Amino acid sequence: MTYTRQRQNSQSFQQVLCLPGGKSVYLQEQSSENLRMKLDLLAIAAHPDDVELSCGGTIAKLVKRGKKVGLLDLTRGELSTRGTLEIREAEAAEAARLLGVHVRENLELQDGSIEVNRANKIKVIEIIRKYKPEILFFPHWLERHPDHEHAHALCREAWFYAGLEKIETTMGGIKQEPHRPRSYYHFMQTYEFAPSFIVDISSEFEQRMQATRAFASQFYDPSSNERETFLSTPEFIEFLITRFSYYGDRIGRKYGEPFFSVNMIGIEDPFLLTL
Ligand SMILES: [Zn+2]
Repeated sequence: MTYTRQRQNSQSFQQVLCLPGGKSVYLQEQSSENLRMKLDLLAIAAHPDDVELSCGGTIAKLVKRGKKVGLLDLTRGELSTRGTLEIREAEAAEAARLLGVHVRENLELQDGSIEVNRANKIKVIEIIRKYKPEILFFPHWLERHPDHEHAHALCREAWFYAGLEKIETTMGGIKQEPHRPRSYYHFMQTYEFAPSFIVDISSEFEQRMQATRAFASQFYDPSSNERETFLSTPEFIEFLITRFSYYGDRIGRKYGEPFFSVNMIGIEDPFLLTL
């Protein structure tokens, strides 16, 4: 399993992204108060690039607002038609840097075969307990790619069981405390749903598209000889822009990212709504 580690000196430490093969990427300088590694939000997806494609603008926006955000990729995307694992890892690190997230981890589950079994549930529970996020983002249960549906089931179960004390886990030889994030929301991938809420990402749109384009091996490249995929057609990026423009229009803004919530959304102040 890949993991993050911290480098500490007297004043600060750096969050380090550890990739398979022993490569490390320094994400950003952290203040010493962040040493506890608690995150506000953890976004979990089946493949590197899923988060960037579906909710990168919201991630970037929350980071700008001072939230601590982490990404967890369940697989390394080794079944991808285009690119290599090494290219994909470098792209994931660059996208994480562009979004400004505090940490990105990869569980190295098997691409194309994400199993909802005890061992995998424990792996996700360990990450949830390690970072103690208040909110999770993960895929909707109905999706075109079966890995996304399996990722949903795995995260949904791990979310619940992470809060049960009698499911014991350890990290670094130390017993972990139970922790259940207070909510989880689903980002939109291929299949659409009627959103429970839409986040205005107008100011973060260019940043989220840049982070998406960091996965250059997956998208349209007229000089590439690799087999064309759903993502690598010239129309795909246009489709993304159209989608976020459409959902932005629905809330009276230029661009928006849709989310689904199984719970109803409560608000403190109707005047904070965009429409
Ligand atoms: Zn995916």
